[in-house]
Amino acid sequence: MSFCNLTGKVALVTGGSRGIGKAIAKELRNAGAEVIISGTNVDALKETAAEIGARYIAADLSDSAQVDRLAQEAGAVDILVNNAGITRDGLFIRQSDDAWNDVLRVNLDAAVRLTRALLPAMSKKNWGRIINISSIVAHMGNVGQTNYITSKAAITGFTKGLAKEIARKGVTVNCVAPGFIHTDMTSSLPEKMVEKFKEAIAAQTFGEPEHVAASVRFLASDEAAYITGATMHVNGGMYM
Ligand code: NAD
Repeated sequence: MSFCNLTGKVALVTGGSRGIGKAIAKELRNAGAEVIISGTNVDALKETAAEIGARYIAADLSDSAQVDRLAQEAGAVDILVNNAGITRDGLFIRQSDDAWNDVLRVNLDAAVRLTRALLPAMSKKNWGRIINISSIVAHMGNVGQTNYITSKAAITGFTKGLAKEIARKGVTVNCVAPGFIHTDMTSSLPEKMVEKFKEAIAAQTFGEPEHVAASVRFLASDEAAYITGATMHVNGGMYM
């Protein structure tokens, strides 16, 4: 059996139609897992699902009833990757309640709710993997992102708490914290800002979604069975 083989496992990747989520879904599929992707854009979901040989379930994670439906339709999942995430950037002093609540609802509440719904099946099997995609900014801060940073720092704390509770059931809970990665999320950053960030990255360049996906594949595998409550940083040396 090859390293990090996931044959026989079922994986659910939220926000799996594009960007980092798509790369993760592809990587887990290449490792042999059955993959389910979820997201809001049905056309993109259909296209990505067909491209990589995955199932898809459309669900808007800002709506708790749709989170519950997603869990129900997905069924027994072995590997849950809480990847879907949004930003609504702006200086804290001018931040609206909506900008705060929208980000917390998708990045934190939905991931927690989905985890709670899918955990019993993992616990019953004495095997499970929960991988939360956090962010470098939860560790080093950033201007204009208090809502986003709070959501990612909270998911990091959630990861540690749950990891302690569930380790004896063979379920690991970890974070992967990407640095700056080439996706739609970073494509609208002004060129000046991109150059400034690149100067702060030891590798001098943004990362690719595949760099993040490789870490997720490892944490999802049997080989990573003794790693839990951890954060794997994938940031080209921007934060150590
Ligand atoms: P992206 O914007 O390209 O993709 C985000 C995904 O989340 C999309 O598939 C989208 O459909 C899904 N999504 C958004 N709102 C949703 C909702 N309400 N319901 C269901 N799905 C929803 O972003 P990305 O760069 O691929 O980011 C993926 C994850 O990585 C996010 O959690 C993000 O915070 C994190 N991250 C990204 C970077 C980066 O530099 N790109 C850095 C650190 C962390």
